[in-house]
Amino acid sequence: MKLRLIPLGTSAGRPTLARGASAFAVAAEGAWVLCDCGEGAQIAAQKAGLSLSRLDAVLITHLHGDHFNGLPGLLGTLGLEGRQRPLILAGPAGIADLLQHLARAGSLGTGDMEVRVFEQHGAGGEIALEKFHVESRPLSHRVPTYGYRVALPDRPGTLDLAAAIEAGVPKGPLLGELKAGRAVTLPDGRVVQPDGLVGPSRKGVSMAYALDTVPCAEAVELGREVDALVHEATYEHARAELAHQRGHSTGVEAARIAADARAAALVLTHFSASVNGEAVAEEARSIHPKIVAAADLVEI
Ligand SMILES: [Zn+2]
Repeated sequence: MKLRLIPLGTSAGRPTLARGASAFAVAAEGAWVLCDCGEGAQIAAQKAGLSLSRLDAVLITHLHGDHFNGLPGLLGTLGLEGRQRPLILAGPAGIADLLQHLARAGSLGTGDMEVRVFEQHGAGGEIALEKFHVESRPLSHRVPTYGYRVALPDRPGTLDLAAAIEAGVPKGPLLGELKAGRAVTLPDGRVVQPDGLVGPSRKGVSMAYALDTVPCAEAVELGREVDALVHEATYEHARAELAHQRGHSTGVEAARIAADARAAALVLTHFSASVNGEAVAEEARSIHPKIVAAADLVEI
């Protein structure tokens, strides 16, 4: 199974005419998760053809408005749609209180929908969703911030069909069982183990989402050998000092993180309105060979 990455908002700080505030969709067949929910995220999701009813979880990195302000509106829409299925929400400490304040003031309108909040503390943790496996790690920004890693489950190894048939396993459901890594009992009572007939399981497709942050070791761990690391690149490298003062990174620094993590591809996003995203990507390409500058609604 594949992961589709759809940037819904790629601007830093505020939406512009070309770029919405931070939001990023990670979609598999029949389900998706939303990383950050800046203003306008729900409209962008609809433009991208994503069904809100199939949204499994929202993962908020930090509570700066450009990453959060779209969430009350999105929750309200899910409430209006009459959603019964719980929504998983991860975010830094304080997000539950913040939503309760809004709910008490009558601003949320979530109806019957339960919002299951997982506040992230300390070293972060794991959240098991039906389709995805999510892990968080703390990043280094001006307020408590967590990056997320989203992966599909590992896939079973390849079945050596000829060897399985040779071992007496008949064609049909028993082969499927064996391929899934389980021992099977043949009609004559013999038990055939998968060892030697099924190769090692293959790693599920994975991505990591690291923003906002200065360059940090936790981002490398978060993105360790992922298929795609999405990392913020607020400024071009000439303004590295300004980037650090504001808790951000440059594209060149994001590329070093991706190279250290041995991420297969790097997606740059969270561009200041004063930078050209493609130029930020271009100056980083000598460090990592596969870099994409994210653009709103352009699927990767
Ligand atoms: Zn921020």
